[in-house]
Parts: sequence; structure tokens; C-alpha cells
Amino acid sequence: MKPLLIQNGRIIDPGQKLDEPGSLLIAGGKIAWVGRGKESPPENNYDVIDAKGLIVCPGFIDLHCHLRQPGFEGKETIATGTRAAARGGFTTVCCMPNTEPPLDNKDTVEFVKATAAAEGVIRVLPIGCISQGRVGQDLSDMGALVLAGVIGFSDDGEPALNSPLLRRALEYSRFCKLPIIDHCEDTDLSRGGQMNEGEISAGLLLKGIPNAAEDIIVARDLLLAGLTGGWIHIAHTTTEGAVDLIRRAKEKGVRVTAEATPHHLTLTEERAKSHGASAKVNPPLRTERDIKALIQGLNDNTIDIIATDHAPHTEAEKHQAFELAPFGISGFETALGNLMGLVHRKELDMVTLITKLTAAPARIIGKSCGGLGTLATGSTADVTLFDPNLEWTVDTKDFASKGKNTPLAGEKLKGKVMATIYGGKVVYKDESFGVKGDTGGV
Ligand SMILES: [Zn+2]
Ligand SMILES: [Zn+2]
Repeated sequence: MKPLLIQNGRIIDPGQKLDEPGSLLIAGGKIAWVGRGKESPPENNYDVIDAKGLIVCPGFIDLHCHLRQPGFEGKETIATGTRAAARGGFTTVCCMPNTEPPLDNKDTVEFVKATAAAEGVIRVLPIGCISQGRVGQDLSDMGALVLAGVIGFSDDGEPALNSPLLRRALEYSRFCKLPIIDHCEDTDLSRGGQMNEGEISAGLLLKGIPNAAEDIIVARDLLLAGLTGGWIHIAHTTTEGAVDLIRRAKEKGVRVTAEATPHHLTLTEERAKSHGASAKVNPPLRTERDIKALIQGLNDNTIDIIATDHAPHTEAEKHQAFELAPFGISGFETALGNLMGLVHRKELDMVTLITKLTAAPARIIGKSCGGLGTLATGSTADVTLFDPNLEWTVDTKDFASKGKNTPLAGEKLKGKVMATIYGGKVVYKDESFGVKGDTGGV
């Protein structure tokens, strides 16, 4: 493959504190050269991408998604999920282990890795189960899962409610230096719940899920992380209370990292009223007040990263009555456009947004998979190009994901991924966007 020059873009690489106009030369799958301003590259035989008006940044890293394979290929496969992720600007995704069979053993982890290598278009890093069979009784063989290459542990879909079990997992996390990722939900409090508890759930005659269902388990997890010195990662934070608890725990030196999703950062419980089951997600969409707290948390680094919790379902499943439809939003392909709303509304600055999608998640997975999330010379050429100002309307017919379930269908978003480069190869390019020369994988 000929070297590829990306020129005339605004290069933002938070890992190098770089934010200026410049050019990038990719050769042999690596970043070969980064030029500032009008500097000329050291070679002259290359293909060219003109990135005028575009942001050029490291490929996005998603710490939390559901690729559904093995077991639920009707909802998504590694082939379709990774293509959807590439359309969203992601070059690395970490997949949750709630498959069938679940990722609680070496063989299934190896199946996911082999399938991703054969059929995927970007990097897939599996997350292993905390408990055998994800049923919260016995610890999985965490040592074997580490050797198989998992980047963390989670029983996501379900919380890790068994406190002695979570304690032992956190103790082990000190030795393997990988995060224990918890879906924080007191299921006794949330049982039968369909959406956020409040006036809207009451008006719709749907059982609500109170903020306390999340806050209680976040508080317990932080206490156990303090007790053990282990590393807890709080998945999909949604409440003002949880943000406060995490902030205070960080001040006390507890080893905690946390994520928030694009939908919880931008959409309120009102969507359940206007968009029905496509807005049904667990944890539920909350209130303006919670969103404000989450954004403040992003800005003061209480919330370390943004992760999609991409959760595709079939149309038949989602087109049922609200109470019967499964929880989840298909998130890869709207993430950037949706999040750019925060930048356009001046609630988050561009560099912070890109940090939360690149350098910050790269730090979390750094022990298992180092050197990602940066455009430093010599690093793997995972690069995302996006137009921060292009307006487009979400049409789920265009989704590469099998999951068309999004409460953003028909929404006008401002900000669109134009090209995604994985290991030096263009794995996605917007149809409106030209790449001169033969770039291989388009
Ligand atoms: Zn979850
Ligand atoms: Zn999830």
C-alpha cells in the first residue's frame, strides 16, 4: 500500500497536547510523520486525503459495547458491529461478555478474537465475565481470562450484586491491574421498572426506576474498592448522586474510573414519551439535572470517558409494547453527531470531547493494549476524520448495525464522521467524501 498523506486538517491529539493545522503521513500501518502548518512531508509518492475543514484525531476507543456474537446474531454480529463502529469513527471497541455462551472461558474469548480478526474491520478487545455463567455465584477463572486477552471483567447486563464475590474480584484486579466494570443497579429497587421514576413514568403508567437504584450500588462498589485497593470502573453513570459519590471517592484516593454514554449525556426521560420503546434503555434516560451533573463530571474528570453501550436489538423485539421491549440503544453510528451537540452548545470543549473518546480510554486499556489513542510518530495509524459542522439527518436505513433501535431516528445532528482509518487502511469513508488515489480498503 502506498503511503497516505492527510493534509489541510485541524489535528487534535490530546495525548500529545496537539491542536493545530497540519498534516499526517501514514506508511506501513503506522504514523510516519506529523507536520505542523504547511510543513511538507519527507516523501512525495503518496495518496492524498484533503481534510480541509475537518478534525483529524486518533481513532475513537469504545470501552463498552455489545456485539452479540456468539449467540444473538439476529441482533448483531462482529462483522456488522465492527462496520457500524467504523462508521461511527471507532477503531477499537471493547465488547461485553453477555453473549451465549458468555465470555467466562478461554475458548469463547478466543472465538471472539478469531472472528474479529477474520470478519471484523477494526480492533475488538473482549471483556471477560466476573462470575461463571454471569450468574453471580462463583468467580470466573480470571487468570485464564487474563491469559486469553480480556481487558477487564464485567457481568454487564446484570450488576455484580454478590458483595463477597465482587470483593474477591476487586482483590484480583490489584494483581492483574485490569478494571472490574460494574453495571450498578439495585435490582430489588428497579424490578419491573421500565424508565426513570418520576412524573412522566407515572403519567405513562409505567413502573419507574429511581436514581437510588444506581446510587446504592455505586456507593457499595466504591466502599469495596476502598476496602480492597482494587480498581472499580463504573459503567454508564446516569445520576447526579452517582457523580457526587465518584467525585468524593476519587478525592479520597479510591481507585475508580467511570464512564457516561452519549444518550445519557444528551437525552432526558421525555424521549420515552415522544419516542416509545426506542428510548427504553437501562439505566434509563434521566433528567436535565442529572445531565448537568454528568457534564460537570466530564469537565472535572470525575467521569473519565465516554462509552457508547451500543446495544442493538431486532426491530421485532423493539416494536413491541414498551413493557415487553428489551432495554438498549444502537449507539455507534450516532455517537459523534450526538456528542457534538454538547460542543456546539458550549457545554463541552472539542479537545475534552476528543480526550474522552481517545486518550482517556486508551489509558484504561493501556496495560492490555498499549500505544493506542494517539497520533504520535511510530504509533499504529488509527485515525478518525470528522466534519464538526456538517448537518445530517439520522436515517437508520443507512446503519451498518443490524440494530436500528435509536430514539435519535429522524433527528438532525451537526457533526459527522467522514473517514475512519484502522492500521493505516481506510475502513470507512462517507459517500460525500473524496479520497484521491487508490487507498486500498474502501
Ligand atoms: Zn449495563
Ligand atoms: Zn452494556
